[in-house]
Amino acid sequence: MKITSAEFVISNSEVAKCPDSRLPEYAFIGRSNVGKSSLINMLTERKNLAKTSGRPGKTQLINHFLINKSWHLVDLPGYGYAQVSKSAKKTFQKFITAYFEKREQMICAFVLIDSRHKPQPIDLEFMEWLGEHQVPFCIIYTKADKLKPKALERNINDYQAEMLQTWTEMPQYFITSSSSGMGRDEVLDYIDRINSQ
Ligand code: GDP
Repeated sequence: MKITSAEFVISNSEVAKCPDSRLPEYAFIGRSNVGKSSLINMLTERKNLAKTSGRPGKTQLINHFLINKSWHLVDLPGYGYAQVSKSAKKTFQKFITAYFEKREQMICAFVLIDSRHKPQPIDLEFMEWLGEHQVPFCIIYTKADKLKPKALERNINDYQAEMLQTWTEMPQYFITSSSSGMGRDEVLDYIDRINSQ
């Protein structure tokens, strides 16, 4: 998919105030610092569409971007930031669960996982929640350039093996690097394929 336009639409903290539009949307979510903003900028070929986070855990908003005037890319807040208070975590959970439960035009969630790290309970639990609520999702392993090819392959195999203990049907996954552009075509073609169905 060629990106011909990418525009910021709205930020908000209430699902009810998300754009009143039937356009298909694709949500990006992951732990703070996983590389979500960098990935969004890489996918859209815009330097600062999503603000790369100087202060992780700061932005607790749902950000909508209109891509090619035909679909929404949704930047959801990063989760799992240690220095966020318990009540802030609760509010975040409510807010995210409401988004996935209510937003019918949400076609697929991309759950970002840092390819350097071992499976983290917070990510595994989040994906289990998505599964239980029948939210379609894919995994995106980020920052692939930070590992040598062998180590990357080993980490992803380990991650998949861990997930196989819980999942009978495995989600599709992509491997990306925002520095090299790796995985860009695959993610965008995946979205394109669904949009043209
Ligand atoms: P966010 O908090 O998930 O939005 O993460 P950011 O996109 O702000 O990235 C967090 C840090 O990781 C920044 O210092 C980025 O430059 C770095 N980063 C993000 N993606 C990549 C990547 O693919 N490769 C490399 N080498 N660094 C990355």
